Amino acid sequence: GTTILWFRRDLRLSDQAALVAAAKEGPVIPVYVLDDETPRHRRMGGASRWWLHHSLQSLDASLREKGSRLILRRGKSDEVLAQIAEESGAGRVHCIRHYEPWWRNAERAVADKLDLVCHHGNYLAPPGSVTTGSGTPYKIYTPFWRSLKDDMPPREPANRPRDIPVPSDWPKSDDLDDWGLLPTKPNWAKGFEAEWEPGGAGARKRVDAFVQEAARYESTRNLPGVEGTSRLSPHLHFGEVSPAYVWHRTSSVGGSVGTFLGEIGWRDYAQNVILQFPEYGAKNARDQFDAMEWRDFRSATVRDEFDAWTMGRTGYPIVDAGMRQLWATGWMHNRVRMIAASFLIKHLLIDWREGEQWFWDTLVDADYASNATNWQWVAGTGVDSNMFVRIMAPLTQSEKFDAGDYIREWVPELAGLSDPYVHDPEAHGCRPKDYPRKLIGHREARERALAAVKEI
Ligand code: FAD
Repeated sequence: GTTILWFRRDLRLSDQAALVAAAKEGPVIPVYVLDDETPRHRRMGGASRWWLHHSLQSLDASLREKGSRLILRRGKSDEVLAQIAEESGAGRVHCIRHYEPWWRNAERAVADKLDLVCHHGNYLAPPGSVTTGSGTPYKIYTPFWRSLKDDMPPREPANRPRDIPVPSDWPKSDDLDDWGLLPTKPNWAKGFEAEWEPGGAGARKRVDAFVQEAARYESTRNLPGVEGTSRLSPHLHFGEVSPAYVWHRTSSVGGSVGTFLGEIGWRDYAQNVILQFPEYGAKNARDQFDAMEWRDFRSATVRDEFDAWTMGRTGYPIVDAGMRQLWATGWMHNRVRMIAASFLIKHLLIDWREGEQWFWDTLVDADYASNATNWQWVAGTGVDSNMFVRIMAPLTQSEKFDAGDYIREWVPELAGLSDPYVHDPEAHGCRPKDYPRKLIGHREARERALAAVKEI
């Protein structure tokens, strides 16, 4: 009979287990529901909505090549799907399982109303399936990865089905342009268009390009001035390619590709963390940090400093370059994410959750599990964490990871400064007038942070 294929963050036709299953059963109605109600305050942020718009366009085009199409509806997932089932007589819904707490709720709500079949496919192994000998889930990455790796490689990725059977009547669909997913005025996404091609074809191009570079990953991945990483994160987040596909394309490259696959493993690990701790995006895993006296976000000074951080005007060039790259492109290099996050938490002593929310709104790869896991890791509040007292020195990091070109690219006020000066113009007495002074000195910040954590 007719089935509904419920798309979420799995916007692809290849290696799409739910599509394969649905196509075997008869006519398929591919549906995307824009659901801002189920996630409530975790509705998608601005950058993600930009991505989503283009990715849905691309998915619809791929479906149309096969004579099918994408039905768009807005509302609460379970209600919308029940409505479509009633209109079309569809008996069953196929989807790929998701692990965000609100998606788990939505899956339960849909299953209460309809025959829902959830498939595995967005992770290397189904989250929750990698356990210790005694059957408990891992809390720490290293043993998790060791155990996951034993079960690899993942199964061969499946091709897209040759035919997608279509229903005799299509249910009505919204017009994507009416969803208002794109910025209006000002159009902050201009730089996104130059950087990204959302959708399956763009994702596969990134994979093709990265295969050429993957063997050198270990030596270039920490250099923000070099394009040494894959930039697959938004494509993986939206499920435009499956991790199994990425694994099979890259694993035979040799060189340091094992390090890259370990990063794909971090992505799986983060899902396992939120499966165990669904509130990870909002609650310190180490609850002694609940007593931490973060600086008061209601104070105007603190708000101003937070705003300076978001705008890339902290006076620390490496931090500012990262924050401006984020604003301009929706993405930031991983090394710089760590430096910028650490700066907010430890130098400005602002609660990591404020930074997590800013990233949630501005990253094209904003991912509940990966974002929360990494913020808690940097903060030292997480299950598997750095120690809070290990405070990154942004200037040392900047020099060590050779960020001169990166700073010159993203902080045009500093474009004329050569290498030793560009990392810390203030200390060298060559700070241009239009570049801000440091919000706080490193030593002073370090002492304040250490004193605050000692209190708890
Ligand atoms: P590559 O180095 O090419 O890695 C390949 C893939 O592995 C990535 O595409 C990503 O899917 C995965 N990956 C790599 N590093 C990590 C990691 N540390 N944790 C989880 N998965 C990883 N990543 C997100 O996808 N979404 C987020 O919301 C996110 N928030 C972050 C917040 C902070 C404070 C920090 C420090 C890191 C965050 N990361 C997040 C992880 C990491 O920075 C990005 O995944 C990476 O920079 C993406 O670039 P890439 O695709 O070129 O990575």
